[in-house]
Amino acid sequence: MNNIVKDKYQRPIISLRISITNRCNVSCFYCHHDGILPKNYEMTVDEIYKILKIAKKVGISKIRYSGGEPLIRDDIVEIIKKTSSLNFKDVSITTNGTLLSKYANDLAKHGLKRINVSFDTLNPETYKCITKKDYMEDAKNGIIAAIEGGLYPVKINMVVMKGINDNEIDEMFEFCKKHGLVLQLIELLKTDGCEENEKLNKYHYDMEPLEQKFEKIADKIKTRKFMQERKKYYIDDGEIELVKPMDNTEFCENCTRLRITPEGKIKPCLLRNDNLTDLLKPIRDGISEEELEKIFIEGIYKREPYYADEK
Ligand code: SAM
Repeated sequence: MNNIVKDKYQRPIISLRISITNRCNVSCFYCHHDGILPKNYEMTVDEIYKILKIAKKVGISKIRYSGGEPLIRDDIVEIIKKTSSLNFKDVSITTNGTLLSKYANDLAKHGLKRINVSFDTLNPETYKCITKKDYMEDAKNGIIAAIEGGLYPVKINMVVMKGINDNEIDEMFEFCKKHGLVLQLIELLKTDGCEENEKLNKYHYDMEPLEQKFEKIADKIKTRKFMQERKKYYIDDGEIELVKPMDNTEFCENCTRLRITPEGKIKPCLLRNDNLTDLLKPIRDGISEEELEKIFIEGIYKREPYYADEK
C-alpha cells in the first residue's frame, strides 16, 4: 500500500478503468456510454501502454477495460498481452459478451484473469428490446466460452430495470448458480438535468428491498473493501453483489477508481464530465514519462466526492 497515490480526500487510487473505444455493436437504450462523447475515439496499443506504465508507477494494481465494446477492437488480445507484461495484480474486461466466443481462449492465454459480461435478460425478446440486436445466444455462448477458457470469476452484470427485467432476478440467479457465475445486480443510473436521460427514471428500480431480503436469507455476507464497500451475499451456493452508486455518500467515500476515456482523458468520477485531464495530446506531443506522471497525478488530485455528506 505504501507507494499508492491518494487523492486530496485520502482515498487511495487502486483501480483504473480504461475505455478503449466508444464503438459498440449493440445499442442498449439505457447506456450511459461511460459518460463519454459520441464521436469515435481510440488510443493505440502503444499509447495505452504509456498510460499503463504511469498507472503502475503510481501504485495502481487493477486494470479493467471497458468501452463502448472493448472486444470490438481487433487488437484486444495485443492490449491484454501488453498489460499483462506489467504484472498488475488484476486485469479484467467488461464486455457485452457477443464476441467472447472468438476471444476467450486467447485472452486467458495472454493474461486476462477474469471477466464481467453485461447480460440483463434470458428472454430473447427482452434482449432485443434492450439492445436492439438479436445477439442473446452469442452472448450466452460467450459466457460459456469464458468459463471453458478458464477465466475466473466470470461475473454477470445485470442492470435491473422496473417493468423490463425486474421479474427475472431469480431466474438469472439460477442461471448463474448452474454455471458457477457471480451475479452483480446493478442499479440503473439516474441522471438529472438531461431530458433524454430523465426518460430513464421510470425504469429505476429501488434496490433497498432486495438488499433487506438478501440480508435475511444470506448464509454469509462479505463487505468488499476498496470496492465502494460493496456487499457480497452468499446464498444457496451462489454469489450476488449489489452495485448501488446512487445517492450514496458511502460509495464516494470508498471509491478507489479512476477512469480513462477513449479520447485519453482522465475522468475522476463516473458522474462528472467537467474535471477531465487530457493525457493523449501530451503523449502525441512527445512528452517525457516524468512529465506524463506529473499530469496523471494532477488528474488524481481533481477527484472530488460526487455525493458530499451533508451531516
Ligand atoms: N460494452 C461493454 C458492456 O456491455 O459491458 C462495456 C461498456 S458498458 C457502458 C459497462 C457497464 O455499464 C455495463 O455493465 C452496463 O450494463 C453498465 N451501464 C450502462 N449504462 C448504465 C446505466 N444507465 N446505469 C447503470 N449501469 C449502466
